[in-house]
Amino acid sequence: MGELVSSYYQFNAGSTNYPKLQGTLDTDVCILGGGFTGLSSALHLAQAGMKVVLLEANRIGFGASGRNGGQIVNSYSRDVDHIAARYGQAAGDAMAAMMFEGGEIIRQLIEQYQIDCDYVPGGAFVAMNAKQMQHLEAQQRLWQQHGNQQLTLLDRNALADIVSSDRYVGGLSDGLSGHIQPLKLAQGEARAIQSLGGQIFEQSPVTRVERGKTVQVHTALGSVNARYLVVGANAYLTHVLPELSKRNMPCGTQIITTEVLGEARCRELLPANYCVEDCNYLLDYYRTTADHRLLYGGGVVYGARDPADIERLIRPKLEATFPSLKGVKIDFSWTGNFLLTLSRLPEFGRLDNNIYYMQGYSGHGVTCTHLAGKVAAEALTGQAGRFDVFAKLPHLPLLGGRALQIPFTALGAAYYNLRDKLGI
Ligand SMILES: Cc1cc2nc3c(=O)[nH]c(=O)nc-3n(C[C@H](O)[C@H](O)[C@H](O)COP(=O)(O)OP(=O)(O)OC[C@H]3O[C@@H](n4cnc5c(N)ncnc54)[C@H](O)[C@@H]3O)c2cc1C
Repeated sequence: MGELVSSYYQFNAGSTNYPKLQGTLDTDVCILGGGFTGLSSALHLAQAGMKVVLLEANRIGFGASGRNGGQIVNSYSRDVDHIAARYGQAAGDAMAAMMFEGGEIIRQLIEQYQIDCDYVPGGAFVAMNAKQMQHLEAQQRLWQQHGNQQLTLLDRNALADIVSSDRYVGGLSDGLSGHIQPLKLAQGEARAIQSLGGQIFEQSPVTRVERGKTVQVHTALGSVNARYLVVGANAYLTHVLPELSKRNMPCGTQIITTEVLGEARCRELLPANYCVEDCNYLLDYYRTTADHRLLYGGGVVYGARDPADIERLIRPKLEATFPSLKGVKIDFSWTGNFLLTLSRLPEFGRLDNNIYYMQGYSGHGVTCTHLAGKVAAEALTGQAGRFDVFAKLPHLPLLGGRALQIPFTALGAAYYNLRDKLGI
């Protein structure tokens, strides 16, 4: 059982303090994990009138949901043209019909429950070379075709209104993107669940799941009897359901946050206050915060946990993008894990018909976790169609199991790093 990782978000938002589960409870749905997957599931289920109990091993937002870049990125880690080409037009079309919905859900929840999470609309993808620019042109066509009319291609000059950096040849802005303080969003969603009668327990790691017609979910001090269990533990899943943890690669990505730079300096760097991510496989992502710091993330290094190491890894990237910040003081550094699948597509599915799981967003989870919770709630209330669109996508096993996951991650990172350097 742990507290939140020390980060800018924890400094800025503090921590929740829900009780530990003690004794036995009966409920319709037990939810394992207090990140966006679990929170969105609980919230949508509670909205539909279901009785929910959410169990979080640590604190709300302990995992990637309370540590991420806060970027609302649309679509999926693999885009819908790839899904159509690989898995058939019907799968591509069905996934395309949901590709902008996650962001919409976040905006709706913020509005409906008045969640103060520093939401700012607007984001941009930036290209390091002509090949990446061609990719962004194709992405604009594809996303427009599926209904996003808020996309603008930017040449080097036009991009200067969004990012003051010489590193890029151009970009693509997306008005349906934007950024949030993710820990504040998670905490606001938890409050919304409670306001609908849902129960939340923290510092209550699930230690054992007894399967059956009623699922019995055990913690050290209590248990929950539920008709359904929803598992949203992603890269932080402990060994309670080995079928889920064995086939994916937990990957670490790191973020640093500068001292307060002031509004004027922040607007010199990012004039439109958009969030930005580049098109590399091992991408850099950054934005400014409500109190006018630069928050900069990048790389994929498994398990770099020492803040000094993190600063050593990420500072050179920040300074390459913004040379005027050379030597800037870094106030916060932290790492977080996300789950990469072999297909780079999310894995949704069922075990025994009453245990539902959603995981493996492969780095782009802020929007898809919110969609996941909504479609899982639909499935548990009798409309499984959209959940099954995801569930039918292939789940590719990782050869070698858990023992080889970390070496594979390191190998994969080296491979992608080389591809980025060669511009292929
Ligand atoms: C540093 C970083 C930056 C990122 N930036 C972005 C970004 O800008 N945009 C974007 O779209 N995506 C981003 N991502 C990915 C995104 O954050 C994740 O895909 C998403 O938050 C996953 O949410 P989740 O709820 O599925 O899992 P998590 O948020 O990881 O939550 C899982 C929770 O399950 C709990 N848990 C585990 N085991 C148990 C148990 N046995 N009992 C009870 N609870 C348990 C954990 O304590 C944890 O709180 C980033 C990820 C990282 C790490």
